[in-house]
Amino acid sequence: MDVHNVEMVMSAVSAAQYPTDGKPEIALVGRSNVGKSSLTNTLIQRKNFARTSSQPGKTQTLNFYNVEDQLYFVDVPGYGYAKVSKKQREAFGHMIEEYITSRKQLRGVISLVDARHDPSADDIAMYEWLHYYNIPILVVATKSDKISKSKFNKFEANIKRTLGFDAAESSFQFFSSETKYGKDQVWAWIEAHMAM
Ligand code: GDP
Repeated sequence: MDVHNVEMVMSAVSAAQYPTDGKPEIALVGRSNVGKSSLTNTLIQRKNFARTSSQPGKTQTLNFYNVEDQLYFVDVPGYGYAKVSKKQREAFGHMIEEYITSRKQLRGVISLVDARHDPSADDIAMYEWLHYYNIPILVVATKSDKISKSKFNKFEANIKRTLGFDAAESSFQFFSSETKYGKDQVWAWIEAHMAM
């Protein structure tokens, strides 16, 4: 999709605040610092639209971006801060559980992992949980410019094995916001799932 218009329409902490116009939604999840803002900015052809690296302790909200009046990107706050309190963790868990399990407009989730590392325990839990709820998942391995293409197969196999990746139900894509590698493939997945 060639994106010209995007606006942040809503920061929501509960279902009563979600948009009501029924556009399809694609959610983006990943631990903080994985490159979620950078991916979002690349997809919407902006340098600095999505905030980068939100701080722990700040109000954690679901941010709805209206993209070309055709869909919403739903930016889910980054998980996996070491310093987040048990109470914050529970509030976050409740918010995303409510969204993921009840949102009819949700067409799929882009789950970001760092291409260079083994998926974390939180990454694995998120993948298993989304898969349990039969949500279509695109696993995007970010920062792929930091590994050589000759190692892609090895890294992909390792990420998939660690996640318990279900190839029949989920898709996988390397991505780099530096080189834009994978951008077209991520958009193709989004567009295919918007229509579902
Ligand atoms: P977020 O916290 O998940 O939104 O992560 P950001 O998008 O803010 O990225 C975290 C850090 O990783 C920043 O310093 C980015 O410049 C860097 N980063 C993000 N994506 C890439 C990428 O594709 N390649 C490289 N080399 N660095 C990246």
